[in-house]
Amino acid sequence: MGIRIYKLAEQLELSNKELIKMLQDLGVDVTSHMSTINEETAELIMDMVLGEEEGTQEDDSKVLKVEGTMTVKELSEEIDVDPSTLMAKLIGLGIMATINQELTSDQLEVVAAEYGYVVEEEEEEEEDNLFGLVNDIEDKQKDLKSRPPVITVMGHVDHGKTTLLDAIRKTEVTASEAGGITQHIGAYQVKVNGQKITFLDTPGHEAFTSMRARGAQATDIAILVVAADDGIMPQTIEAINHAKSAGVPIIVAINKMDRPNAQPDRVKQELMNHGLIPEDWGGDTVCVPVSALKGENLDELLEMIVLTAEMEELKANPTRPANGIIVEAELDRGRGPVATILIKNGTLKVGDAIVAGLASGRVRAMINDQGERVEEAGPATPVEVLGLSDVPNAGDLLEVVEDDQSARDIAQKRQNKRREDELSRNTTVNLEDLFSQI
Ligand code: GDP
Ligand code: MG
Repeated sequence: MGIRIYKLAEQLELSNKELIKMLQDLGVDVTSHMSTINEETAELIMDMVLGEEEGTQEDDSKVLKVEGTMTVKELSEEIDVDPSTLMAKLIGLGIMATINQELTSDQLEVVAAEYGYVVEEEEEEEEDNLFGLVNDIEDKQKDLKSRPPVITVMGHVDHGKTTLLDAIRKTEVTASEAGGITQHIGAYQVKVNGQKITFLDTPGHEAFTSMRARGAQATDIAILVVAADDGIMPQTIEAINHAKSAGVPIIVAINKMDRPNAQPDRVKQELMNHGLIPEDWGGDTVCVPVSALKGENLDELLEMIVLTAEMEELKANPTRPANGIIVEAELDRGRGPVATILIKNGTLKVGDAIVAGLASGRVRAMINDQGERVEEAGPATPVEVLGLSDVPNAGDLLEVVEDDQSARDIAQKRQNKRREDELSRNTTVNLEDLFSQI
């Protein structure tokens, strides 16, 4: 008995991800929207979510965000009070101020409280978030459209990740291009029953760690490859932990089923020991037996991916300026810096001014996973981008900005910061060295 995550999420108007994150923060072992939790836990969560709402309603003070200082005029605009009324109020409080006078933070606090506001001082953020997105505006619900899921294949070395990725890619290549050679760009899309799925070629662990370190999550679903003749190994466990802490659902591909010594039940038993209970044993972990080498049962695996993706209700806003994640990048002799980008949100277009990590530039050309030139690329699409000044790092965020000048400015700021950081690090090291010699 219990309740499925996605049902509870629906009731509470939370996304599956948000709910899973809440549960994990409480120490509840959940892995996907199909997981069930007991009634007690569900009630606890409901109290937390609903209680919060009540709380904010009871205490109806509004928040006034202030960055640095604020003039009387600015304050009047922020809280929507006529400037003359506001000045009269100030006088009443013993503050003689002209309309363009900057209020001290104490004065601000007092007068804001009169109108039911609590002042929250905003740090001039740049510092921490210098490498984050510049225009991280939230999308309107009505602009959000379904997008393809992004899949990362993870698992122990030699369990068949590369073979599986190649096999899936091949089914599509032969179907769509009749003998054409697909260029390798570090990610690709396949179509299953008309639905696109994006696969990342980067080894899952790296993709997870380097990208998550920058606060970006590229992956929606993790495919855990486990060789049926070898079972759960150290990197399998690592992969499970990565996926769990990222809150992404895991689909297990029990691979090498063509081997005579394949023992899928043993694999399932071992999965149970790590909190992944196979569906056919009453749990919520989808396990699909496959042979990547022989191309067997890949259809079913792909179908399960589509099903899981549908449950996740993945959406993005194709109409906004794009942002994305650098999947890989290199310096090409003829073409200069070439970066493979996974578009997270928005649509990237040829001619857009871009920044990515320490690099800036303008999209000169884009090439899709089929080796074709494209003019634009929407959410969850992988593309190669030409036109950056330098080679960014895998995991860096790419973003479209207003124009070339702002792209250069942002990149320059980041370079300066990087240099400063390096300098200060070196100084610390030297001081330590010095002290250790005394
Ligand atoms: P990775 O390290 O996880 O990327 O593993 P690879 O894809 O490189 O595969 C390791 C070895 O296992 C290679 O020799 C593959 O040919 C072999 N292999 C992969 N999948 C299968 C399979 O389904 N059946 C068999 N018999 N061998 C496989
Ligand atoms: Mg490999």
